[in-house]
Amino acid sequence: MATATETTIAQKLEALLKLQTIDSALDNIKKVRGDLPEEVRDLEDEIEGLQTRLAKFQSEVENFETQISNYRNSKRDSDKLIAKYKEQQMNVRNNREFEAISKEIELQGLEMEIADKRIKEIDFKILNKNDEIAGVESNLFERSKDLELKKKELQVIIAESEEDELKSLKDRDKALKFVDARLLKSYDKLRGNARNGLAVVMVKRGACGGCFSSVPPQRQTDIKDKKKLLVCEHCGRIFAGVEDVIPPPEKEKKTRTTKASLAAAAALAAAAPIIE
Ligand SMILES: [Zn+2]
Repeated sequence: MATATETTIAQKLEALLKLQTIDSALDNIKKVRGDLPEEVRDLEDEIEGLQTRLAKFQSEVENFETQISNYRNSKRDSDKLIAKYKEQQMNVRNNREFEAISKEIELQGLEMEIADKRIKEIDFKILNKNDEIAGVESNLFERSKDLELKKKELQVIIAESEEDELKSLKDRDKALKFVDARLLKSYDKLRGNARNGLAVVMVKRGACGGCFSSVPPQRQTDIKDKKKLLVCEHCGRIFAGVEDVIPPPEKEKKTRTTKASLAAAAALAAAAPIIE
């Protein structure tokens, strides 16, 4: 017959493990969404950057066009001056006046040549800039398509997990009512410190389900008894029980322990059913 205290500890552990299972499920939901919101944000940032660059290039082209129009105006002015000078040359009184006006005409002619040269140069710059603009525009088009897809994907994932999330949150509220307030404090602290979000673990194959340090057989028996609250001596995680030993599978299954398999083992430990 179990005493009242025994029942309480076992119940406390059961409640904690239930909370852990729900929280691990919630962690997984966040993990699945994890990357997508960031990818969407990254794309939005990239598109904003491209739009800024496009606007800058476009204003550069406008600036070039203004320069061309200025050169054309000055060419027209030179043209008018040359016509005026030529008329003046008809009425000169001496050779010296004629020569002076000829020099002015020559000067204006040079100005016009320079303007033509500059216009050609700027035309070339506009051509290049338009190429760059076309490149940015096509990039922008592609990225916008990507963004649209990612956004849709995110919407689907959120819609898919929203129900699970709401259910888990509801379950969590219910589960919380059975968790001892003092234990909850340690639980929250442990979870906050643990990278894998595990505060309550099972002993699995003789090791802590959180940090994989081995647990001596006598301690395992104590944990199984659930007469007191026992924590891992290495990581401080709360032991909820000892998982039934499953007969070891074929030899080929005995592969090297990788980080990934450790993480998988931890996730399994968290999701393990409560052992009576
Ligand atoms: Zn541990």
